[in-house]
Amino acid sequence: MLERFFPDEWVESAYSIDYEAYFEAGYRGLIFDIDNTLVPHGADADERAIKLFERLKGIGFDICLLSNNKKPRVERFNKDVNVKYIFKAGKPYSKNYYVATMMTRTSTKSTLVIGDQLFTDIYGGKLAGIRTILVNPIDKKEDLQVRLKRFLEKPVMMFYKHSLKEKVSEMPRNRKPEHKASRSRRRKEKHFSVSEHIARIDRLFNSRYI
Ligand SMILES: [Mg+2]
Repeated sequence: MLERFFPDEWVESAYSIDYEAYFEAGYRGLIFDIDNTLVPHGADADERAIKLFERLKGIGFDICLLSNNKKPRVERFNKDVNVKYIFKAGKPYSKNYYVATMMTRTSTKSTLVIGDQLFTDIYGGKLAGIRTILVNPIDKKEDLQVRLKRFLEKPVMMFYKHSLKEKVSEMPRNRKPEHKASRSRRRKEKHFSVSEHIARIDRLFNSRYI
């Protein structure tokens, strides 16, 4: 039952995703949450975000910001990155995820959702049938409403962490790289042992909940 909230992938940051490998695998659209995914809550686009968006456009991605925040906040962030956007998106309802894929002229199968919240960004992406990537929040200081959501997501994340560890433990020791995996992904994977994978999962969890 809790699986409905599990992301397809969990990484430390939106800035550490191998976007080139995803493009190579056929993905063309990106749906980003803003607050605590790309910048601290309420902040303008910083140098790092501006550079990331330039790089992503250069790769060939079409991008849409999907935020539950209000119009002035979303437009203030977007003025420096200049992509498509939807404000007051009503996440986790899936309607605006579909609208975002229409705006980026992609499909649910060729799009990624990137966000920091399990019950809004990730759950909504899963309801829409889009691949989801969970990132750890940039700023640990959050308002009361978000802190409450973190409290509620913690048990779900504990089950998810456990399921990841089980999956990793069952991995064949000398697994051959999948045929379709990109060269860069193959390069990264072959250096990880099972214990390193498990240590990484623990690190991700501990840096998310301190
Ligand atoms: Mg967020």
